Amino acid sequence: MIKQFVGQEFCLKCQGCCRFSKINSVWSPCLLDVESQELLDKKGIPAVSISADRRIQPIPIPEAEGFVCPLLDRLDNKCKIYSLHPFECQLYPFLINLRKDKVLLTVDLNCPYAASKIDSQEAKDYIIYLSNFLNSPEQLEMLKDNPQIIQAYEEVREVAELNLPHETK
Ligand code: SF4
Repeated sequence: MIKQFVGQEFCLKCQGCCRFSKINSVWSPCLLDVESQELLDKKGIPAVSISADRRIQPIPIPEAEGFVCPLLDRLDNKCKIYSLHPFECQLYPFLINLRKDKVLLTVDLNCPYAASKIDSQEAKDYIIYLSNFLNSPEQLEMLKDNPQIIQAYEEVREVAELNLPHETK
């Protein structure tokens, strides 16, 4: 598991994550190949629809506009599969971003915690931790094998560049 930047107490009070304005949003969680297989195979977890590009398909929110991840328990605002928490969800509010010919580590400042802390020493230390983690040979290999999670998010702030070999971009 990736060490978390945003504490659980803060996350549980926020209604931002796991909700999307569009059904085919770039923000809906994109899975690693192994996670996709795990979700399809594992017994005892809610059935979800996964698109060909490995994205969990959000479902409409019945009483409001927009969509929600089918794995969010909206009563307590918790993920129903926390023990299988997808890599992208662990990473958020940080994102792996393709911009021009670079693979970047970026942050989404729509996360209120990230917005309030991004210039703090805490954030600087965390970005060093996360960059080192993602630049480890094991994680770079994982990213190389799962190019679907290197996406083009807009309006995010660049915080570091990852050392992915050119041919994986
Ligand atoms: S898998 Fe869990 S953490 Fe990820 S978007 Fe769905 S409910 Fe949220």
